[in-house]
Amino acid sequence: MTPDAVTVIEGAHVVTGDAGGREYGSGHLVVQQTHIVAVGSGPAPQSYQDAIARGEAIRVDGSGRLVTAGFVNSHHHLNQWITRGYATDTTLFGWLTTLYPIWARLNAESLYASSAANLGWLALTGCTTSMDHQYVYPSGVGDLLEAEITAARDIGVRFHPTRGSMNLGQSDGGLPPDSVVETMDAILAASESAIDRWHDPAFDAMTRIALAPCSPFSVTGELMRESAALARARGVRLHTHISETLDEEAFCLEKFGLTPPQYLESLGWLGPDVWLAHCVHLSDEAVSRFAATGTGVAHCPTSNGRLGSGAAPIRALLDAGAIVGLGVDGAASNESGRMLDELHQALLVARVRDGELAMNAREALALATMGGARCLGRQEELGSLEVGKLADIAVWRIDDLAGASIEDPVVTLVIGATTLDRLYVNGRAVVAGGELLTADVETLARNAAAAAASVRPAGGSVPWT
Ligand code: ZN
Repeated sequence: MTPDAVTVIEGAHVVTGDAGGREYGSGHLVVQQTHIVAVGSGPAPQSYQDAIARGEAIRVDGSGRLVTAGFVNSHHHLNQWITRGYATDTTLFGWLTTLYPIWARLNAESLYASSAANLGWLALTGCTTSMDHQYVYPSGVGDLLEAEITAARDIGVRFHPTRGSMNLGQSDGGLPPDSVVETMDAILAASESAIDRWHDPAFDAMTRIALAPCSPFSVTGELMRESAALARARGVRLHTHISETLDEEAFCLEKFGLTPPQYLESLGWLGPDVWLAHCVHLSDEAVSRFAATGTGVAHCPTSNGRLGSGAAPIRALLDAGAIVGLGVDGAASNESGRMLDELHQALLVARVRDGELAMNAREALALATMGGARCLGRQEELGSLEVGKLADIAVWRIDDLAGASIEDPVVTLVIGATTLDRLYVNGRAVVAGGELLTADVETLARNAAAAAASVRPAGGSVPWT
């Protein structure tokens, strides 16, 4: 559709995700320019029927379709699309030390290829907004942040890149090799410049910046404090990895005498402007502190399973009133990289961990939509289908071979199987008929494969090369 057109979807099962949990078995949704202007039961209001008759609005037949808010990916690493399949049978620390030197071979060109392919794939699996956490900045390889922001604009998804960082190399007791860390001064200067150049505070912003020192074992406490001060002075959000593995907890207890959440709190890093990836190993006290401070959690069930890190206490977090979104996490620890799969895994992991009532399909959908929007501070604009919100919308097939015989469309989406039919971001069609409209997927795949070859270590990565 063109930016000034009106699109009227009718006859679909519409899950609004609003505070009242409204659903319409045969409902309508109307988009005008970048916003949702009507949603409800039955056909669209007469004024829109007249507009369709005059050729001033497009009607989309929603029969056999489920309409939801677009998914918000609350934790990710776009560079990892071209480093998939490494270190598949080791711990997080073993996986990281294998991959750090490979990520150090990245440049702006390969990151663009990785990001465009990965964002295209995320769009095809229901994601309308993604964050990114790029924390390896080799010197002299071009502008990495610009490369991924350009890719997001080309694919057409809403984008919240973070300026990540590492400044605690092995010679200072950290995990990453010294060759991939930066100085604190360089990081803070680059962070400020990223905010100046890219951060858009507008309601309909397509690009927003956050600051994201990488993890307790790869950055100094001083950098954490300084990053928080800078972010708060400039009105941007804060993000990091925390409580992912027991190795990390042992590191923090030995080095700081504190658990990872206690360490974060001592640095001023709990609050309503902070969201944290993983949060697998949390005490009851940490769950309470996250809820009380409004700190968000980006739950990454597939990545946590792939790395054997554990199952996060999501039921306890939700019961405490904490904010929880879903994250695909980088594709080096989630090779399939499908946003839709995270809903499925979140439900299964919750029930395996905490029993049969630990999560239902609608709760999983809410995590992927409003939960993610809240993590990114976009709950007024995104996360539900309501009049006045931005038109970030996913339309799913519930009438095809995969799901046609399942009673409940939300169960089809989360527990069953479905395929994406359409995706709108800011009112623009990015996917239609299950096809990506903004790029040629064969070209994306070819360019990603070439970029993967460009960072592959000499001698290959696997026994048969
Ligand atoms: Zn991560």
